[in-house]
Amino acid sequence: MTTAETTAVGTAAHRTMRAACTIAKETIRYEDRPVPVPAPGQALLRIETVTLCGTDLHIWEDDYATELPMTQGHEFCGVIEELPEPHPRLAVGDRVAVSPVLPCGDCHACAIGRTNACDRMSVYGCYDVEGALTELMAVPVTNLFFIPESLPAHLASLCEPAAIAMQAVNRGRPVAGEKALVLGSGPIGLLCTLYLTSLGVEVIAADTVPERCALAREFGALDTVLIDPAVPFPDPRHTALLTTWTGGKGPSVVFEATGAPASLNNALRTVATAGRVVAVGISDRQVTFSMRTLPVKDIDLIGSRNSQDLIGEAAELLARHPRQAEALITHRFPFARVAEAFETMRSGTGTVGKVAIDMPGAAA
Ligand SMILES: [Zn+2]
Ligand SMILES: [Zn+2]
Repeated sequence: MTTAETTAVGTAAHRTMRAACTIAKETIRYEDRPVPVPAPGQALLRIETVTLCGTDLHIWEDDYATELPMTQGHEFCGVIEELPEPHPRLAVGDRVAVSPVLPCGDCHACAIGRTNACDRMSVYGCYDVEGALTELMAVPVTNLFFIPESLPAHLASLCEPAAIAMQAVNRGRPVAGEKALVLGSGPIGLLCTLYLTSLGVEVIAADTVPERCALAREFGALDTVLIDPAVPFPDPRHTALLTTWTGGKGPSVVFEATGAPASLNNALRTVATAGRVVAVGISDRQVTFSMRTLPVKDIDLIGSRNSQDLIGEAAELLARHPRQAEALITHRFPFARVAEAFETMRSGTGTVGKVAIDMPGAAA
């Protein structure tokens, strides 16, 4: 480390920055805090964009396993402002996306290399570590992934949800030419559809909102089914479509990306015998199905959580599909209007996609 770098790091503690902290249910307070000093193995990031997801909404509503106050924000990108130790692939000035998961390294999942499912993980802005709704943040360099220039900041923060979708797809072990049904065409479902079709898998996508079905076609879906929650799925029209498409066999892999119990049942009902169902949608609701379902159809029912080592590939996927990535972001707010961003999420009609917050660093 040079003297100049030592000085820069040393003075960081004396500077201040703004953070938007969720201090209580639905209450954001802006706070001035000391700029963090990166510990060994960390870099200092100037945050450019934070996108919000359903988890963020639950935390803001104080309806999640997070103790408030908490500075939220786990989907984010930034520019490396300080890199105290030389790094083989990263340099000051690089734009990076961040894996927000900090695994314990010790539980069964960690021991077998599946740190995305760690029992005792910390996640920036979710459990017990402060997140990215702040101007500057110190993050381990092992959590940073280089972002190509072609992917602008407001799209680079989508690498985290895109990686979650890719993880779910990979868990389903699809091969080119297979037929997949994606239930739910919110951001994760749409990103599953995009990744599946990029792998040569044929997709029919479903949603309860016509606009989302239309979007799914832009993300590569061959066709879509509009589900009426009041009518059992599949209705006769859906059945005709799925039968023609799969020769009566049913889709060999189905992705559940809504978190609705009825949707998981729809997945189990429509998947081909000996097929796979991947559950990536999360909710606290209870689901019921017959004890016959899994053994009789010989179904692999697979859960998928977070992502592992996929942020870099997610950046490439998004960079190859800028139009689709752009379509995911339906609302943008400046850092000064974080509360409005959360309120927009809550008002959540089916046409609210990703809500992005442009941080002060994005203009720098
Ligand atoms: Zn999220
Ligand atoms: Zn662990």
